[in-house]
Amino acid sequence: TPEALTSTQPALVVTRPGGREVLQVQDRPVPEPGPGEVLVEVAAAGVNFIDVYQREGVYPMETPFVLGKEGAGTVRVLGDGVEGVSPGDRVAWAMTQGTTAGWATLPAGSLVPVPDEVELETAAAAMLQGMTAHFLVTDCAPIGEGSVALVHAAAGGVGQLLVQMVVARGGHVVATAGSEEKCAIARSRGAAETIDYTAEDDLEGAIAEAAARLGAPDGVDVAYDGVGAATFDASLAALRPRGVLVLFGGASGQVPPFDIQRLNAGGSLYLTRPTLAHYIARREELLRRGQEVLAAVASGELDVAVDGRYPMTEAAEAYAALEGRTSTGKLLLVP
Ligand code: NDP
Repeated sequence: TPEALTSTQPALVVTRPGGREVLQVQDRPVPEPGPGEVLVEVAAAGVNFIDVYQREGVYPMETPFVLGKEGAGTVRVLGDGVEGVSPGDRVAWAMTQGTTAGWATLPAGSLVPVPDEVELETAAAAMLQGMTAHFLVTDCAPIGEGSVALVHAAAGGVGQLLVQMVVARGGHVVATAGSEEKCAIARSRGAAETIDYTAEDDLEGAIAEAAARLGAPDGVDVAYDGVGAATFDASLAALRPRGVLVLFGGASGQVPPFDIQRLNAGGSLYLTRPTLAHYIARREELLRRGQEVLAAVASGELDVAVDGRYPMTEAAEAYAALEGRTSTGKLLLVP
């Protein structure tokens, strides 16, 4: 539809670094795909914490910029030299900047095909958090039969997927979450032990007891921590000797500088601070990871909980829910 190229479309723009008040839906020209790019009509865009870090300037960005790093839609126009993708193809993506919009141009190499059985909105909901949970359990700190893992914020977007993926690989989960209701969600995803960390005076003790009940009296094999500042110490204390702390986010704030000797004192511990971008940088790896996640969704093995679906004009409300800890699972924006 080349006529689309002459019209305008809505895009969610961060006008300057700041709070949700800096978000604005602006009418912009439909972008033209450059060489190696495709123009996609966006069906749905994902709401992610990285958008918050970018908006606030934790990850510095030149303003104004179009927000969004995740979505799914239909290919409409190919730029020069694009192969292997055709107009009409249903595709999804993650970690490609500026796609919370009616239309977006993306590098053809950043697209993952969406299986027929999966709705575009479900695919949009599964990509970024799904591939994150996937790299955490497969490549970052691999889970095997009998592994015991600590998962914080287990009723959240990444959290619910992570619990399911650990359990699917034969692991056991000690989950934390911010209310009894959220703990029930984590249990419904397969967590064997849950702790409401907002109601717990001795979080380290509670985690140790839960781990012992799961057959890990010396501590958990791996702690997956996306909460950051508020949970980092408890995560470190939860590990068995030679255990792995995977700090993959800072929903409660960034972890302050850290004395490396604590890894020694804790029992020859490992600490890594990974990001999805480095686990999908190669085209083959992106395709493998994205297709495994979407295949698990298609087969019903992985359930993606879409907790809210907002028109783009109500984006501030969606981010208020994410930042205010009232969401469970995935939030979507629809153009
Ligand atoms: P969630 O849906 O998990 O939402 C964040 C959750 O964190 C909240 O629901 C809340 O759950 C918990 N939380 C604890 N303290 C706070 C606080 N002070 N403010 C807000 N939330 C808090 O979000 P996502 O699944 O999108 O992301 C989870 C984490 O994973 C984030 O830190 C994100 O940056 C990170 N991430 C990292 C990636 C990577 O590549 N490294 C990729 C994707 C996500 P509760 O009430 O139960 O405590």
